[in-house]
Amino acid sequence: MAIEKDWKQKYYDSLQQLDDRQATWDELDKLLRKAISRLAITAKGINKRLDKILSSIQAHSRDKKDIALEQDLQDLSDLLAKLDDESISTTQTVEPVGASTGAGSSSQNISAQPEADIHPYILKLIKTLHFETAQSGRSPLQSLDDLIKNLDRLDAEQSITRLADLINPFLDQSPQDDSLIKEILIILVEKISFTHGSSEHLERLKEKLHSTFNITDWHEYLDEMVAEIRNIIQGINSEKIELETLIVDVTRQLNEISEVLVDEKSDTVAGHNDSLKLQAMMHQSVDNIQQKVIHESDINQLKSAINDNLSTIKQGVEEFRKQDEVRFSKAEKRNTQLQLQLQQMEQESDQLQKKLTENRKKMMFDSLTQVRNRMSYDELLDQELARYARYKEEFSFAILDIDHFKRVNDNFGHNAGDKALQIVAKMMSKHIRKTDFLFRIGGEEFVLLLPKTTLVNAQPLVETIRSSIATASFHFKKQKVEMSMSCGLTVIRDTDNAETIYERADAALYEAKNSGRNRLIVSKG
Ligand code: GH3
Ligand code: MG
Ligand code: MG
Repeated sequence: MAIEKDWKQKYYDSLQQLDDRQATWDELDKLLRKAISRLAITAKGINKRLDKILSSIQAHSRDKKDIALEQDLQDLSDLLAKLDDESISTTQTVEPVGASTGAGSSSQNISAQPEADIHPYILKLIKTLHFETAQSGRSPLQSLDDLIKNLDRLDAEQSITRLADLINPFLDQSPQDDSLIKEILIILVEKISFTHGSSEHLERLKEKLHSTFNITDWHEYLDEMVAEIRNIIQGINSEKIELETLIVDVTRQLNEISEVLVDEKSDTVAGHNDSLKLQAMMHQSVDNIQQKVIHESDINQLKSAINDNLSTIKQGVEEFRKQDEVRFSKAEKRNTQLQLQLQQMEQESDQLQKKLTENRKKMMFDSLTQVRNRMSYDELLDQELARYARYKEEFSFAILDIDHFKRVNDNFGHNAGDKALQIVAKMMSKHIRKTDFLFRIGGEEFVLLLPKTTLVNAQPLVETIRSSIATASFHFKKQKVEMSMSCGLTVIRDTDNAETIYERADAALYEAKNSGRNRLIVSKG
């Protein structure tokens, strides 16, 4: 209290002087009484209870009623202590925040005002925390003071983050005023939703704050909020970059188009204007000549006037022609440029087409043997089945599998095996027509699809293939290697699909393998 302090100071100062002069008790007593009555005068009107005691002190001091005075001083001392306490609790009472929100305002009140500045709420929180730390005998958080000072310079996210960093450790030691903190957290969520747009996450957080808020977890809520603000800001940034790129691209394209259009239009307009000017000038000159013919009697004058007008016309035409030439050459240039661009585009599209064809080929053909692959098999078999369903065009289907191929690998190595696969595929290809299809559908397993071919016609073809492989002499590292194939053959049936026709041919192949290999079995089933 300022009054008390002044009075005390004066009292101590006088005491010091008295001390210096070896004061007597009487002087001391006098001074004390004087000081008490000064105090009574200056402190009057501050507090009713204080006034009463001070009046009593004045009276008892004047009348030298020392025992009563002693009691007065005791009362005074008690009252001052009490007033001190009250003054602390006035600072403890948290200031109302903003013009509209009172200290005890409910969360509904606050929710209705999300546009309120976030800083007063943070300030409110800091003040409470400040008081709590002081009360609990811990050193006040100096950094909170710094934060208060810098609050205006920080944006909402920065201030929340800083605040969270500073007060997390403090709140871990369980503060007392949890309703206030809950209130402030709700305000923060409202504020974030309002300025950045609400998200599902924030809504959930708000819900949680209202229903199951637990003070010990409060920093988790704040952390979540800070993370969410970061998410929102990041989202906005990346959308912004995407949009900017799009705008730059669209603007560039529009500029290009408008440049061409402006060029084209200005030339056309200029051409049109020039020809109008030329026409007007010619009319004027012809008019002039006619007038001269009517009014000029001097033949020489007439001649020169006509000549003048004719040369004006000549000049005008010449000018127009020149301008036209410029326009023409510009147009020609543009045409050539356009043609070049068109050619370039055609070339590019040709290249693209080629690349696509190559890619498709790569996708449909086996890179080792260059015959069609499994993917192509699926596609073409489906196509053939569909054709059969519609036109009943019979086709034959054979599986051909190299016998004991594993031995080739085992005896001569994998590279020799690859080579053998290439040779066998090549030999098989030689025997079939362009309209037939050969696929490598597994390691050393091939399928022959023979469109418009009956079983009767297919059988000799497959047999030829089989025998040509069996009789050919293969050599690896100068060693003769026996190679043969077993084959299962079948023909399409009305009830077939891709699986059933394969299974029937495979069963025939199995039979060929089991009955000694190097043979063709035609499915009877
Ligand atoms: P079977 O007469 O019963 O058909 O006997 P097989 O040895 O030909 O048949 P198996 O299915 O037991 O073995 C096939 C072998 O074909 C196994 C594998 O080493 C070989 N193979 C599969 N794909 C390739 C390939 O791309 N290159 C090479 N070099 N070998 C392959
Ligand atoms: Mg085999
Ligand atoms: Mg096999």
